[in-house]
Amino acid sequence: MTVKIEDKLFLDRFKVDEESHLRIIDGEICLKKCLQQSCLYLCPGNVYRLEVDRISVRHEGCLECGSCRIACPHLNIEWRFPKGGYGVSHKFG
Ligand code: SF4
Ligand code: SF4
Repeated sequence: MTVKIEDKLFLDRFKVDEESHLRIIDGEICLKKCLQQSCLYLCPGNVYRLEVDRISVRHEGCLECGSCRIACPHLNIEWRFPKGGYGVSHKFG
């Protein structure tokens, strides 16, 4: 049986901190200098979304994989783990 990624993500549980642990440092760079905008395509949690005038960050769905920090060609993402007790809990099965 094939298990889809959506089914796997459904097993994860989130305790969301109101304060985001992710921050785009300079939004102008995203819109004016970043050709790849890789954060929009590689994030498994679909955290980054292209809005009319900015890229929004919905930290609530972050899986804490760290990919966005590594892939951003402008080092434009301030990244840290959520505060203790917050963030994702992975269940396997
Ligand atoms: S990859 Fe980095 S610089 Fe490019 S849009 Fe995303 S956050 Fe902005
Ligand atoms: S750490 Fe992973 S899941 Fe979280 S925002 Fe970055 S790419 Fe998305």
